[in-house]
Amino acid sequence: PEECGGFGVWSGGDAAALAALGLHALQHRGQEAAGIVSLDEAGMFHAHKGLGLVGDNFGEAKVIASLRGEAAVGHNRYATTGETALRNVQPLYADFEFGGFAVGHNGNLTNAQALKRALVRRGCLFQSTTDSEVFVHLIAISLYSTVLDRLIDALKQVQGAYSLVALHNGALIGARDPLGVRPLVLGRLANGGWVLASETCALDIVSAEFVRDVEAGEIVVINDEGVRSVKPFGRQAGRFCIFEYIYFARPDSVMEGTPVYETRKRIGVELSRESGVPADVVVPVPDSGVPAAMGYAAEAGIPFELGIIRNHYVGRTFIEPTDQIRHLGVKLKHSANRPILEGKRVVLVDDSIVRGTTSRKIVEMVRQAGAKEVHMRISSPPTTHSCYYGIDTPRREELIAAQMTHEELTRHLGVDSLGYLSIDSMLSSMPEGPKGYCHACFSGQYPTATPAEPELLRAGSAAGLPRGR
Ligand code: SF4
Repeated sequence: PEECGGFGVWSGGDAAALAALGLHALQHRGQEAAGIVSLDEAGMFHAHKGLGLVGDNFGEAKVIASLRGEAAVGHNRYATTGETALRNVQPLYADFEFGGFAVGHNGNLTNAQALKRALVRRGCLFQSTTDSEVFVHLIAISLYSTVLDRLIDALKQVQGAYSLVALHNGALIGARDPLGVRPLVLGRLANGGWVLASETCALDIVSAEFVRDVEAGEIVVINDEGVRSVKPFGRQAGRFCIFEYIYFARPDSVMEGTPVYETRKRIGVELSRESGVPADVVVPVPDSGVPAAMGYAAEAGIPFELGIIRNHYVGRTFIEPTDQIRHLGVKLKHSANRPILEGKRVVLVDDSIVRGTTSRKIVEMVRQAGAKEVHMRISSPPTTHSCYYGIDTPRREELIAAQMTHEELTRHLGVDSLGYLSIDSMLSSMPEGPKGYCHACFSGQYPTATPAEPELLRAGSAAGLPRGR
């Protein structure tokens, strides 16, 4: 149920080692927990999961050695539903009549609670609090005989967003929901084996060649005979998450044939055209604001400078619990590069404002470093709605752009001016043009029915929010 990374290997030699590397490259998609399930030649499954980073859990040779086999699936988790507990760490594994089955889920289901209630009434015993477990039970109770038919049966009952990597004795399986909200790509290893990954940066780390994106609504079944494509939902217009381009994906990943980095720079160009302001220097909020700031600076003809330096050895601020620590967290993570900022009119570029906490502290820091003017430019439209598809945005009450007018927010942040990218410009900056994206967190136009708010709260989605952003 989550903002996550998934990785799968078939015929990959040291599959678990490759999965650990792939997950490491996808660490930005989830830092709360990591897991790998492997399948050996004798048909035995082996699993290792833990809370924390990939390196913390899979750094030891003996752990990788215990995950025998040439096939594996792995998952990085950042919970948007369900608590942080080992029982929620994916891939989830279950023994069925057809044998073992492991599955990792990236995305969020919008009807999970309703399905879960129905399944519990039928006697299903849930072992975790993650909504991804409904896949396991739906597969278990399906009356179809093959694994693939059971999976399709399950997928037809869930709503919302999912990219799945799954493994059973006969195949590695990848699946994307009919709207293709979350990414999933297919790659080929030099030895002829196959790889599935949330992003292409995870193919690069294992030197796999990019083959193609798994399509919206497509299931790929991979085994020694090759890759079979199944499209049980017919053709539909996709709704890929536009926020993957704006912030979430790694900039060196290629999505839908276009480098994320290039798209972010193009967004920066648009931002400069739309809300340019006389200034001496364009400064990104690192790291996510960097490509957009480069595009902005190039278009505006204003020097791009690293006026804020990020300390890479500090964890993300949202894992820190109290306001006081959160405040300190910002200072630990960013420091002002005073000679660049002093006496200057500064354009500060960031990708989004969620709660506004971090932005406010950064502006304060830039002012303290002697900036004469601070103009905040955001490379996305105001975040006014919650995401129900696996990106961890807080409820509307906590989204500052949903609660304040533009003038109020400008004052609240302490900036001389505040400029956002318009929805039209955001859409026209996208590689596929204005169609085919989910932009609900900016527009409120959800591509599916959304779960009732109380239901979402019961699911525990208030846990682990990126409060700093
Ligand atoms: Fe992505 Fe926003 Fe849609 Fe969520 S609501 S899937 S973050 S575009």
